[in-house]
Amino acid sequence: MADSTGPTLFWHRRDLRITDNAGLLEAATLDDVLPVFCLDDELLQYAGAPRVAFMLEAVRDLQTRYRERGTDLLVLHGDPDIEIPAAADRFDVASVVWNDDYSGIAQERDEAVEDALQWADVDVTRVHDAVLHEPGTIRTSAGDPYSVFSYYWKKWADREKADAHESPDPDAFYALDSSAVPGLDDLGVSDPDASIPTGTRDAALDRLDRFLESAVFDYADCRDVPAEACTSRLSQDLKFGLLGVREVYEGTERAMAQADDEEARESVQEFRRQLAWREFYAQVLAFNPEAVSENFKSYSNPIEWKRDESALTAWKQGETGYPIVDAGMRQLRQEGYMHNRVRMIVASFLTKDLMIDWREGYRWFRERLVDHDTANDVGGWQWAASTGTDAQPYFRIFNPMTQGERYDPDAEYIRTYIDELTDADADMIHDWPELAPSERQRVAPEYPDPIVDHAERRERAISMFKRARGDD
Ligand SMILES: Cc1cc2nc3c(=O)[nH]c(=O)nc-3n(C[C@H](O)[C@H](O)[C@H](O)COP(=O)(O)OP(=O)(O)OC[C@H]3O[C@@H](n4cnc5c(N)ncnc54)[C@H](O)[C@@H]3O)c2cc1C
Repeated sequence: MADSTGPTLFWHRRDLRITDNAGLLEAATLDDVLPVFCLDDELLQYAGAPRVAFMLEAVRDLQTRYRERGTDLLVLHGDPDIEIPAAADRFDVASVVWNDDYSGIAQERDEAVEDALQWADVDVTRVHDAVLHEPGTIRTSAGDPYSVFSYYWKKWADREKADAHESPDPDAFYALDSSAVPGLDDLGVSDPDASIPTGTRDAALDRLDRFLESAVFDYADCRDVPAEACTSRLSQDLKFGLLGVREVYEGTERAMAQADDEEARESVQEFRRQLAWREFYAQVLAFNPEAVSENFKSYSNPIEWKRDESALTAWKQGETGYPIVDAGMRQLRQEGYMHNRVRMIVASFLTKDLMIDWREGYRWFRERLVDHDTANDVGGWQWAASTGTDAQPYFRIFNPMTQGERYDPDAEYIRTYIDELTDADADMIHDWPELAPSERQRVAPEYPDPIVDHAERRERAISMFKRARGDD
């Protein structure tokens, strides 16, 4: 270790909390801790205003908590491989600690920072924190990482889970004077113009508590019904680490103990299964970093995706004339969020009905989602596009009309986001693409006609995949 008198630097990334933070606790065992956050322009360039606004609020909240402990969060802005070593030098730091992030882009960044620090004779400690089971710790009997979720889930569910970590002692911190968190203006980011969740630790704990009080017990039944809004809404908190995953899991243990009957217990278990999906995709991307831009599953021939700018624009704007698709895309615009069932429907519509490359959809989600998480987003898109690991088979194509009818029977979710259909009855809404043009004109003159014919596109998409497979 270098001969230094300074504090240990703890680099916060997607772990914007003090409690249940494995790396922070580890840093506190080494020396007084100087916490730091770095606004990384490379990541900011892909994030739309809703996600940046949420993140800045979370960073500001974290700073307030540190100030209550007599220190401050040092906020840097620039390339981490320059800024973190510069801060280490400025404060005469012997050791830098951070929690591992498993995506390829994060791994590359971390290696660059680690190289620069080691060159400056500063020790680096990387700690496992973001998931309950680190990528690589759950493997097949042949020793390979899993690519099929159901087998992974069985092992994941059976494994012992770590307890949530305490916060470090209040006197574990290095005294530092104010450092400012930039505002949206300073970063050249416009107002988000979307109603996004509050990005504070208290708000995240509140979301967790409310979910565990009741919705979790009906989760299995109602998680697919977008109008019910009965899922946890914790995705942005898990993405930015306002909550530790161990804290969330402990919450499920309390809920399990309180569950009245088998159905309620199954619901809690179903929620845990979603946490396992998050960890499954984290390990898929950790072992296959190229899946961020390449098909996970290889086909014999290239998939002949269509280039269709006007269809892509209609999809982004929620103007396809398929109500459940448009409601989802408008929810995304208005809230920086979309219900999971609807994410699956809009992703299927883009890749199968419009036959547009999943990467276009991924890029739009990456820009608009507050909860954008590379592993989950790539996983979700490649699943829908039939190019992913354990993906939807190419011939099983969602019918957006029957999906709407099944999961939003009263069209309540659709009407929440599509003003033009407020007065239309549910049957008309679900049948919209198949109504006669004169009927559509009569029912909702402002709402668009369908931009494609689902039945025809279904056939064409299947042929496209058969050609890619080489079996046409
Ligand atoms: C095309 C597509 C893109 C997606 N992009 C993202 C993304 O960028 N970020 C993201 O967090 N989720 C993504 N998902 C997964 C899922 O839609 C969201 O996690 C979920 O809708 C968030 O709402 P919630 O917190 O109420 O979920 P809940 O149902 O309450 O689930 C609890 C948590 O489990 C995790 N989770 C749930 N479903 C999944 C899943 N299918 N895959 C991986 N993790 C899951 C999330 O962390 C979520 O917060 C995507 C799904 C699809 C189909």
